[in-house]
Amino acid sequence: MATIAIDPGHGGEDPGAVGKAGTFEKNVTLAIGRRLKAKIDADPLLRGMLTRDGDFFVPLGQRVAKARAVQADLFVSIHADAFIKPDARGSSVFVLSDKGASSTAARWLAQKENAADLVGGVNLGVKDALLARTLLDLSQTATMQDSAKLGRAVLGELGGINQLHKGQVEQAGFAVLKAPDIPSILVETAFISNPEEELRLKDEAYQDKMAEAILRGIKRYFAKNPPVQRNTVAFIG
Ligand SMILES: [Zn+2]
Repeated sequence: MATIAIDPGHGGEDPGAVGKAGTFEKNVTLAIGRRLKAKIDADPLLRGMLTRDGDFFVPLGQRVAKARAVQADLFVSIHADAFIKPDARGSSVFVLSDKGASSTAARWLAQKENAADLVGGVNLGVKDALLARTLLDLSQTATMQDSAKLGRAVLGELGGINQLHKGQVEQAGFAVLKAPDIPSILVETAFISNPEEELRLKDEAYQDKMAEAILRGIKRYFAKNPPVQRNTVAFIG
């Protein structure tokens, strides 16, 4: 059984991007997120968890904390892109950039108790800062490689239903991608600032197709990377 944390972007007082026709990103992300959860739950081997299931604000750090609390195997944040030029279009997938990762690692390490608890959720009781650092680096390196694989699988499926904004997985320092032990991606489903794509994002059939494509990507990833004892770092001591 694999658990997938689904993170509908924005919510509550944070509407996210707003389309020309008045569509709020927060509503689109929730609609697609709910569809994705229903599809995930329909598979006996998968379980979905929404970081928000309503129109309310959830701080970014809390979204990651919720995923870690259910020991999520994957984290998928759902958004809709916006740009000043209305002709910008297409789907994108992001993973955490190296720079974002290293600053995260530094921050986690600043909190010693977290560093000890971090690797595979096992409290190693690490008193040695250097050892903690090494374990954290191992976990984060593996996580980032897995995030890239997941990103490529999902991007490939999105390319089947929409134009791609960029042909490859992109990197950015998004705060919600910073769990050092959960492969995480952020999906920009389409451009809500593009009037044509805004219309599609509002369309229930298209929302369903989008959720279906993300699920196919997740399954394609799991087919090559089965969710077994991920992040377990052998520790002899
Ligand atoms: Zn967004």
